[in-house]
Amino acid sequence: MITLALSKGRIFEETMPLLAAAGIEVTEDPEKSRKLILATTNPDVRVVLVRASDVPTYVQYGGADLGVTGLDVLLEHGNQGLYQPLDLRIAACRLSVAVRADYDYATAVRQGSRLKVATKYVGLARDFFATKGVHVDLIKLYGSMELAPLTGLADAIVDLVSTGNTLKANHLVEVERIMDISARLVINQAALKLKREPIRRIVEAFESAIPSVAAQ
Ligand code: AMP
Repeated sequence: MITLALSKGRIFEETMPLLAAAGIEVTEDPEKSRKLILATTNPDVRVVLVRASDVPTYVQYGGADLGVTGLDVLLEHGNQGLYQPLDLRIAACRLSVAVRADYDYATAVRQGSRLKVATKYVGLARDFFATKGVHVDLIKLYGSMELAPLTGLADAIVDLVSTGNTLKANHLVEVERIMDISARLVINQAALKLKREPIRRIVEAFESAIPSVAAQ
């Protein structure tokens, strides 16, 4: 049995065409079912639904053989024990710094002010501001980061931006682009040895179906 860990939403939906290329279809709709283990048309392959931030943990400890997870999650988790063969180029977005439209970020940085930064990505944010030599107090949040500058909790946020619509709707502006993000295939290293052939077939099918850069 091969177990693939996915999170609901964009990662699940954008992984389906890749699975289809491997001749695998998930037989249940995760939005309509409460099941956490989904069967597929291949009796030897199943999908487990986990929180996005738990995908690397499941794969690292062998709760799943393979997983699809954002580079943001992977970098924040640390890459221990995970083989990372493919950039799937799905769920593409960027990790950025954003502030209220009326906040003068450039001057605050130039003057060496200490910035309060709210984010789910404490590790990535710490590294980014340290490299820039900007002093920050980091505030860990688990969601709705956009609210932090609007309520005075923080001067800035570090969050994922895709279309920019969420920032715009909350009168925030993107002031730094930290890195481009996309989803990666990760594989448990023991599974890679013990289930070599079935995993190789899935990896090759995924690779053949990765969206081309031009199509994005
Ligand atoms: P957008 O309004 O399209 O810029 O999307 C921004 C919102 O969607 C923010 O709340 C982000 O945290 C979230 N988001 C955007 N892209 C992704 C992604 N690839 N994975 C997870 N969350 C995302």
